[in-house]
Amino acid sequence: KGPDLFGENRRNSAGFDLFDVTELSRIAEAREDDFLDRAEPLIAGPLQGGDKHEARNPASGKVIGKVVNASRKDIETALAAAKPWSAPVAKRAAALRRAADLYEDHFGEIFALLAREAGKSLPDAVGELREAVDFLRYYAAEAEKLDAPARGIFTCISPWNFPLAIFTGQIAAALAAGNGVLAKSAETTPLIASFAVRLLHKAGVPASALQLLPGEGRVVGRALTSDPRIGGVAFTGSTATARMIQAAMAETMAPGAPLIAETGGLNAMIVDSTALPEQAVRDIVASAFQSAGQRCSALRCLYVQEDIEPAFRRMLIGAMDELSLGDPWALETDIGPVITEAARGEINAYIAKAREQERVLHALSEPNRGYFVAPTLIKVNSIADLEKEVFGPVLHLATFKAGAVDKVIADVNASGYGLTFGLHTRIDSRVQDVADSIHAGNIYVNRNQIGAIVGSQPFGGEGLSGTGPKAGGPNYLPRFTRPGTAVREA
Ligand code: GLU
Repeated sequence: KGPDLFGENRRNSAGFDLFDVTELSRIAEAREDDFLDRAEPLIAGPLQGGDKHEARNPASGKVIGKVVNASRKDIETALAAAKPWSAPVAKRAAALRRAADLYEDHFGEIFALLAREAGKSLPDAVGELREAVDFLRYYAAEAEKLDAPARGIFTCISPWNFPLAIFTGQIAAALAAGNGVLAKSAETTPLIASFAVRLLHKAGVPASALQLLPGEGRVVGRALTSDPRIGGVAFTGSTATARMIQAAMAETMAPGAPLIAETGGLNAMIVDSTALPEQAVRDIVASAFQSAGQRCSALRCLYVQEDIEPAFRRMLIGAMDELSLGDPWALETDIGPVITEAARGEINAYIAKAREQERVLHALSEPNRGYFVAPTLIKVNSIADLEKEVFGPVLHLATFKAGAVDKVIADVNASGYGLTFGLHTRIDSRVQDVADSIHAGNIYVNRNQIGAIVGSQPFGGEGLSGTGPKAGGPNYLPRFTRPGTAVREA
């Protein structure tokens, strides 16, 4: 029996067994449940309402709901009404645990929302719900071990690629520690955020301790990161935006107000000639193409040892050809769409440039509807050829000579990013050498490099990839409290 990471002897959420017909029919029935088709600011005061727009399903391009963004007045109303959550920790933890149970009870609506608003495949949606629930229970348990005062009001700014899990994780941490929260959901996923906030309120989180402000970064994000009433910011998104937030905070907030940022990655994997090719190929396909490559942890640059590369490449291309793109709800679907038409255009422009340079080694074809991008393999000499993080199903392939692993590590470190790193080898000493020299937050050996598990695999990077502390780990919550205090012995 391991440590009681989640309190009350609970474990990581069990999720759903997609091989079990009874479970599958429960999910299929739930699909018909009421679908939330409206999002608006959820604030503790009168609502004015700002710009309106339509939410779209990325798999079809069809309108699925209406969204009202927060107006400047709504932001001010929320700031004025925001209060730390002063209830005793036992009460806060109990409410977060209730919220976790409610999330699990409402799996049907959540899967439907994740599929329709974010294009998540069913296995991805199951994984995301589990992670969100784990965050709620884990931070509830961590809060019970803390003995430190809250900072006040936290701004939580979350990305569309984990519109439930990361959205919930940031909020749960801030609330568990006793802060009030102003949450800005991603522009493209306000329906999921609204549904989650309603469940958190229903579980007992007071309206003044958790307010939702959907809207654009340049309006809502800017206002909530440049106000002296804010005590800290949790942000997941691009490195460029994190820099802007840091600058805005420095000018307006108390010195020392923390920015907890999880940002981009240029993640690599090494496959040497001792690796088991069948396993490596399976793990590469998952790491690069699952979630249509829209994870900051995703594999972007694969290094294969030169002498095995021709045969290995044939196997990898064969495995790519088996992938099926399509309706996120269909069980046979491996890969759903990317998030928006604009994202598709950007990724395809990148691929087109590589094609002109005759560097495309292989590409699938995509369905001619919705915002799908064909998984593509592109030849590079090294990670230095990747100008930026391409947030889609695009994998770059490089080779290295036997004995040149150090050079690969040096090149990867020189990118400045440091999020995930993968290694496939049967040489034990190599595992240690690489772990000692690579700059990466999460190093995965002989497995895929996505899907960190709350509690046992704290997630987060270094350098351009983020500030730390790592989410889902023991150092995360103290950052949401005032410094100079100690953690009490159990
Ligand atoms: N935690 C996720 C994983 O381990 C990635 C989070 C992200 O993409 O921001 O795959």
